[in-house]
Amino acid sequence: MAETKRDYYEVLGVGKNATEDELKHAYRQLAKKYHPDTNQGNPEAEAKFKEASEAYAILSDPEKRRQYDTYGHAAFDGTGGSGFGGFDFNSMNMDDIFGDIFGDLFGGGRSSSRQSYNGPMKGANMRAAVRVTFEEAVFGCEKELELTSKQLCTTCGGNGAKPGTKPETCPKCGGSGQVTYTQQSLFGMVRNVTACPDCGGTGKIVKDKCPNCRGNGFTRVRKKIKVPVPAGINDGQSIRVRGEGDLGTNGGERGDLLVEVAVSSHPTFKRQDVNIYSTVPISFTTAALGGEVVIKTVDGDVAYDVKPGTQTDTKIRLKGKGVPYVRNNDLRGDHFVTLVVKVPERLSKEQKEALKKFQEAMGEEPKAEKKKHIFG
Ligand SMILES: [Zn+2]
Ligand SMILES: [Zn+2]
Repeated sequence: MAETKRDYYEVLGVGKNATEDELKHAYRQLAKKYHPDTNQGNPEAEAKFKEASEAYAILSDPEKRRQYDTYGHAAFDGTGGSGFGGFDFNSMNMDDIFGDIFGDLFGGGRSSSRQSYNGPMKGANMRAAVRVTFEEAVFGCEKELELTSKQLCTTCGGNGAKPGTKPETCPKCGGSGQVTYTQQSLFGMVRNVTACPDCGGTGKIVKDKCPNCRGNGFTRVRKKIKVPVPAGINDGQSIRVRGEGDLGTNGGERGDLLVEVAVSSHPTFKRQDVNIYSTVPISFTTAALGGEVVIKTVDGDVAYDVKPGTQTDTKIRLKGKGVPYVRNNDLRGDHFVTLVVKVPERLSKEQKEALKKFQEAMGEEPKAEKKKHIFG
């Protein structure tokens, strides 16, 4: 049976030798464009999103990628048929992928999908931002954030009722926390279940409110949170601090805190992914005769032997002096240096004399004024 599925590399628009970073970047672009949250009611976008997600799920897994490279789609789809039949979309850990790649791009909505309204529910994710220096991003650091956090009210234990009283069962939903209504849609009558508007989905109504939390069940406190910033983090990436998000309801766990990292620029270094770039000026005599120059790296100064006859814009590579991979700090990128030959702008009399001698020694044409003299 002919394969009717598009090639995974083609789907992501990358070459067969694409690196992990290239795959991720390509997928991120597509997922952003076709994500169902931003393309509601657009089945074509949804299909594209699934196709890209599937391709990424396979190619980002080294073992699966090997299988795919060897056997093609047949590696995952015994029938060789089209569509998503052979691929268990649900087996993908979406939370991992989104937590990983998008950080807080799409918020934490995914984890709060729920079946029942008054069961335990995980709290919403919260967002914060930190700024770190170029070096802090390279080597990692710890940042302390102070934020306002909801804590369960200690007076009522979180149920919002005045001590000595109890919340009552909501008469509208009978305590289930949800109400059902039917709606006409393109596909016929659709039954919708939604949170009860009277009790807000808790299934309970508080008549006598707790004086400490005014019936909310929580109080707000200022809290200091230590955020471990991993080595290799890049500008715009987010760190997930588990359990520091919003309070869960009905005993549900807390959401997470997603901290977006802003990396300050550096006067000397530029960064691209895991590589660092800088420009180092060398004198034209060093360029001609060779010599030692000192190159600043994030690991400190490095002495480098410039070869005699080095041209301007010569690029050199300092292996392993780049940024650690955020997922594997044992690996580091490289530092690329561009040597720029500087021509002196002002010369003393002696320097001029020396250079004239040099010019003669090179057999170069003398200056124009001498020409005049000869032909004049
Ligand atoms: Zn209370
Ligand atoms: Zn209710």
